[in-house]
Amino acid sequence: MVDLELSPEQLQFQQMLREFAARELAPEVARRDRDAEPDPELFAKLSSIGLPGVSIPQRYGGAGLDWIALGLACEELEYVDASCRTALSVHAGLCSTGVYQWGTEEQRQRLLRPLAEGRWQGCFGLTEPDAGSDVRALRTRAYREGDLYRLRGQKVWISMGDQAELILVFATVDPEPGTRGITAFAVERAAAGPGLRTEPIHNKYGLRASDTAIVYLDDALVAAENRIGEEGEGFKVAMSCLDSGRYCVASGAAGTIRACLDMSVTYARQRQVQGQEIGRFQLVQQMVAGMARDYDVARLLWLRAGWAKNRGLRSSRESALAKWVNSERANRCADDALQVQGASGFSEESPAARYLRNSRATLIYEGTREVQTQLAAEYALGYRQDRPVRCPLPAWPNE
Ligand SMILES: Cc1cc2nc3c(=O)[nH]c(=O)nc-3n(C[C@H](O)[C@H](O)[C@H](O)COP(=O)(O)OP(=O)(O)OC[C@H]3O[C@@H](n4cnc5c(N)ncnc54)[C@H](O)[C@@H]3O)c2cc1C
Repeated sequence: MVDLELSPEQLQFQQMLREFAARELAPEVARRDRDAEPDPELFAKLSSIGLPGVSIPQRYGGAGLDWIALGLACEELEYVDASCRTALSVHAGLCSTGVYQWGTEEQRQRLLRPLAEGRWQGCFGLTEPDAGSDVRALRTRAYREGDLYRLRGQKVWISMGDQAELILVFATVDPEPGTRGITAFAVERAAAGPGLRTEPIHNKYGLRASDTAIVYLDDALVAAENRIGEEGEGFKVAMSCLDSGRYCVASGAAGTIRACLDMSVTYARQRQVQGQEIGRFQLVQQMVAGMARDYDVARLLWLRAGWAKNRGLRSSRESALAKWVNSERANRCADDALQVQGASGFSEESPAARYLRNSRATLIYEGTREVQTQLAAEYALGYRQDRPVRCPLPAWPNE
């Protein structure tokens, strides 16, 4: 039976997150967005409250909480700062989960522990200039030389790519088309040599305070013992990481929707037009009602996916559906929140424009809106069925 009620511990955790976000993120969020300046202390701040390893077992350096806790963290962080939520979901959802699920026991101690303890920031390097939605077109090559691999290629649009100490890079050991050669590597920046270079991407439409980078791999070195899974298993690794990443995007999007709702309610109760609050106008009510509806839907969808994950069940369909619906609705709610405020919403003095620009990214990354639509159709039509993965998520409690 799906239980959607938060426990007293989860409510306490949620309250702690709200206070953290209000204290540590809110004061500078508008300035950082305006100046397109990632917070260099952000990851240390997240580490100070144990968020990098929130759902990783304590025996690997994590906080030992569950998937719902990670979802709550994403929702509460994005309520204030979507760039911060992106950092957490890339680190915890896309990168650490991959090492946890597919890594050996030795790799979990050596590679996952520093990630979970917040000593290393992690990121996820899948996209290339000519391989975005079509992962099969990936061209970055991995050449084995004794105990090492040399990586050659380029990754683009990599969130936290300029800051992260560990990049989960996907490269192929077999140039033939298809997915058979794709292999995952935990590339340590400190050990990769001069062949690894990263460069920030500037002038983004949104998520301006988020580090987004190009990763150049010109004979970057990675120890064979840092290969995650077997040669040729990288496509499966990437897809299971995306299940968890999409879960984080979906729960984060609920935060944007709630922020839009709260802001719109406050404004609609204050702004007087024709001698009455604009909240009395039916067309304004329609926008506010849509936000209230979308928040409940978004919340239920991410909780359902989290519930499945807590039981070690594969949640590819649930996570993709939640990501699709919630990201679309967050972007629509941000547009409506701006509209409710009229010209005031059109000013950067209001957070509405930032919500609109930031939420636009979620329709692109971790599978575009069109890719999610296609997935939903394929599940509905019976063209796609999930087989159990070789490495199911450990059920929670995961100690
Ligand atoms: C802010 C930001 C952060 C990102 N962070 C990361 C990261 O950390 N790691 C990482 O690896 N990548 C990251 N990405 C990259 C992102 O995952 C890709 O941009 C995304 O997968 C789409 O790939 P593309 O940009 O090459 O678009 P394309 O794949 O070229 O798509 C172009 C258009 O064609 C549509 N299209 C493509 N295929 C189909 C199809 N089969 N049916 C219908 N329509 C289709 C798409 O929906 C889109 O509208 C990030 C991107 C952004 C914007």
